[in-house]
Amino acid sequence: MVSQRLLREGVADETDLKEIIPPDYALDKGPVAVAECFQEIPCNPCSTYCRRGAIVLENINDRPIIDYDRCNGCTLCVSKCPGLAIFVINKNFSEDEATVTLPYEFLPLPKKGDVVITLDRYGSPVGKGKVVRVQNTRYNDKTPLITVTVPKDMIMNVRNIKVEA
Ligand code: SF4
Ligand code: SF4
Repeated sequence: MVSQRLLREGVADETDLKEIIPPDYALDKGPVAVAECFQEIPCNPCSTYCRRGAIVLENINDRPIIDYDRCNGCTLCVSKCPGLAIFVINKNFSEDEATVTLPYEFLPLPKKGDVVITLDRYGSPVGKGKVVRVQNTRYNDKTPLITVTVPKDMIMNVRNIKVEA
């Protein structure tokens, strides 16, 4: 059952997110995937591309559930998701900072070291972050991945970036 806000505005609310936030033991380990895919749709690339069997869909209409005993945050599923609905979060990037790895299909791409504006699910600015990795190889299938630093308490808030001209 998804929230009224999700149905009305297409943006998850706290009740939706409570269902998919990784458990503390997984966040403590390092990078892990978060699948913000809330409705039952016939789709499964996240599952078929995961080499660790961390997303098992018995039925193609099932919602993806991450097995946090298997997921190592490799990011492979992030580029493969046609809905741009998967992110990798790393609460332990450094003592003070976390990172969010997100799919980014806009131009210009930021470069490693750039400071970008971080955005929430509504596209509203919530801060600034430093780009620490840009993945844009053939494995990314023209969906580049940007890894950006965020405050530790923002790993479930930052979901996009804006590159300043
Ligand atoms: S991040 Fe890697 S290990 Fe985790 S679910 Fe995605 S593809 Fe599988
Ligand atoms: S690939 Fe993306 S849209 Fe498709 S089931 Fe997985 S998370 Fe959902």
